[in-house]
Amino acid sequence: MQINGKLLIGAQEVSATKGTMKALDPATGEAIEPPFALGGSDEVERAAQLADEAFDSYNRTTLAERAQFLERIADGLDAIAPELARRASLETGLPVAQLEGEAAKSATQFRQFAAVVRQGRFRQATIDPAQPDRAPRARMDHRMQKIALGPVAIFGASNFPISYSVAGGDTASALAAGCPVILKAHNGHPGASELMGRVIRQAVAESGLHEGVFSLVRGGGNEIGEALVDHPLVRGVTFTGSEAGGMALYRRAQLRPDPIPVFTEMTSVNPTFVLPAALAARGHAIGDGFSERMLVTVGQACLKPAILLAIDGPGYDGMKAAMAARVEAMAARTMLTPGIHEAYRRNVARLGDAGAARIAAGGASQGPWEGQSILFEIEGARMLDDPSLSEEVFGPAALLVRVADAEQLIAIAKQFRGQLSATMQIDHADLSLAERLLPLLERRTGRIVVNAFSHPQEVSHASIHGGPFPATSDSRFTSVGMTAIERFLRPVCYQGFPDALLPEALRQGNPLGIWCLTDGELSKA
Ligand code: NAP
Repeated sequence: MQINGKLLIGAQEVSATKGTMKALDPATGEAIEPPFALGGSDEVERAAQLADEAFDSYNRTTLAERAQFLERIADGLDAIAPELARRASLETGLPVAQLEGEAAKSATQFRQFAAVVRQGRFRQATIDPAQPDRAPRARMDHRMQKIALGPVAIFGASNFPISYSVAGGDTASALAAGCPVILKAHNGHPGASELMGRVIRQAVAESGLHEGVFSLVRGGGNEIGEALVDHPLVRGVTFTGSEAGGMALYRRAQLRPDPIPVFTEMTSVNPTFVLPAALAARGHAIGDGFSERMLVTVGQACLKPAILLAIDGPGYDGMKAAMAARVEAMAARTMLTPGIHEAYRRNVARLGDAGAARIAAGGASQGPWEGQSILFEIEGARMLDDPSLSEEVFGPAALLVRVADAEQLIAIAKQFRGQLSATMQIDHADLSLAERLLPLLERRTGRIVVNAFSHPQEVSHASIHGGPFPATSDSRFTSVGMTAIERFLRPVCYQGFPDALLPEALRQGNPLGIWCLTDGELSKA
């Protein structure tokens, strides 16, 4: 598939209005052809107008039509998977095999959302029939279903350039809900973004949908992102990236004359609590497993386990030695972008300045943006004194916390801000301490893992990739898994409607055969 560097606004290929950029090979620092067009608020205006024009017809596609469209995207991703993985690898320095896995995961997500659409349960069809004889007051017929928010803006993430990017879960769940998508491509992987954008655009055309169902824009600086969040026709936003960027966009959206929902996924250290019996029984294995996970994808994963807390005692030294051994054996590896590499260097220095001792380091950096793996250690009391030690270091670094006793462990747990996940390593004798920790973790995380490590994430019906601030800006929702679709839906109640005017999901006799709550009883008539 040809990459020509144009913006994809509906069916149009749009040339640069704000200059061009080139992708960088992070392994060498060299520019990669071709130049990519940069746009600004004019391109956002055109994409938003088209998305708005597309909304009514796209929102009214039948469940089968919409599911088929999502499956076409999945087939298109499968067809270009080797080429997509190669281009993404060139632009990010991530291994081709890992990116082939991401491409397969993306295609699977589109198929999973196609199944969700066919099942129709996302509509949450609810019928409270009329009760004309009810005393003291008759009840009118009320029917509720969920409909799509409207056109949405999606910011592609840098760190998973396929499965959290143009063809990631945000796009799949927004399209499944019935929302046209304007995708703001991340400048870290413009070629891979264009390939995925072309696949989606082709599926739009082959499905006979309005061209405005999907557009891909790109810009330099903040203009394009701000224009997207400000645009009156944009009805929702999703974002994965830094806390600073996410909160700037979130606040901006709340200052609009008509504030809109913004779902940001920002930062998490995914703490691991190793309880004493588990530490004594298998400290070495826990240390090894933790470091292995921590180092995956050069530590540039939102679910990277970054902080391990253990009460000093039998097994501690063995665990520490195993953590250090993995880190020392790791060569420095290329990070995603110069900006991310620079932020990593700054944050590593911050941990040192805050008093964390550097106890192990991997091979030294050779290339321009290679990240050296580092393990730090600190006393629990110091951690309590300085909450900045609980902040994310995005990259291959971890912090081991030597905790004095159970009370100190509980106190540190209370200090953590919101997290995507937390892990407990426990044995039978740890149950009573685990029971004390559990309510603290429930209040602070979206996912609690026992005796495994938090990465990687399953994409399924029960998946939650969310959590209290600052893990996300809205702890009620997930950005991964089938319920991610709920971010893009809102309820509408239809009262006293004749059957012919009702949406299909709410008509007499359940013509779609979907799950429906009738007078409080769930059934699939
Ligand atoms: P980022 O700087 O937050 O940027 C993400 C996207 O948002 C980019 O497309 C960026 O556009 C746009 N953007 C950011 N701030 C904006 C603003 N104020 N106005 C308009 N648009 C804005 O994230 P990143 O480039 O992926 O990486 C930077 C840092 O983010 C990393 O070092 C890491 O700390 C963090 N990060 C965390 C996770 C996680 O899952 N925890 C994932 C990725 C990144 P431009 O590129 O055009 O500026």
